[in-house]
Amino acid sequence: MARTFFVGGNFKLNGTKQSIKEIVERLNQASLPKDCEVVLCPPAPYLDYAAGLVSKSQVSVGAQNAYQKAAGAFTGENSVDQIKDCGAKWVILGHSERRTIFGEDDKTVADKTKFALDQGLGVILCIGETLEEKKAGVTLKVVERQLDAVIAQVKDWTNVVVAYEPVWAIGTGLAATPEDAQEIHASIREYLAKKLGSDVAEKTRILYGGSANGSNASTFKDKKDVDGFLVGGASLKPEFVDIVNSRN
Ligand code: PGA
Repeated sequence: MARTFFVGGNFKLNGTKQSIKEIVERLNQASLPKDCEVVLCPPAPYLDYAAGLVSKSQVSVGAQNAYQKAAGAFTGENSVDQIKDCGAKWVILGHSERRTIFGEDDKTVADKTKFALDQGLGVILCIGETLEEKKAGVTLKVVERQLDAVIAQVKDWTNVVVAYEPVWAIGTGLAATPEDAQEIHASIREYLAKKLGSDVAEKTRILYGGSANGSNASTFKDKKDVDGFLVGGASLKPEFVDIVNSRN
């Protein structure tokens, strides 16, 4: 079955009103394929601003993180309701930088995913192995463990997009080869089928992330289990439009 091509832009801790305006306007003016979905994820202070600038219905805005409680004494956190109130429709959860720098474990990521979905946000759920884990040959074990935590809590995966992001490929310029990505994506889909049924597995989009850019994106286009990209560094640059158009 056809899964709609999906490209997320993870700005990380980058951007100003000026640079974000330029990125959104570039997309507003570009001709984009009809059957694709683009989600721009600026830092939280700019969600409302970015959402207000977007003019194409296939482009929306997402947060890079959200707290797993509705409100209260949680200094420094952003709630799902606030994110929605700012016009965002998605949230990235489980990014490796959240897992490693901010100590989010599988259970925390699963709690956040469950909470965000229940409150009506779509979730871009990031999974992926470190270089050590890859070398040790435990990539599938790691991504399955990361998925298991979420599968234990989330039964309806309609609004979940999985992003396979090998940690060794993030920000390094060393993207996985399309063949390697396809192999892992196929295994992830197989695992989702085993745990959640083949219907869920067939419908769930699995993005590749890790040094995706305007030149390599099109080399993934015939890989049947690669349903799009989660893009970091290149999402800040004009080549982001080329990634969105990489299926043409
Ligand atoms: P990168 O980051 O494209 O800069 O490698 C991807 C990500 O962290 O989502």
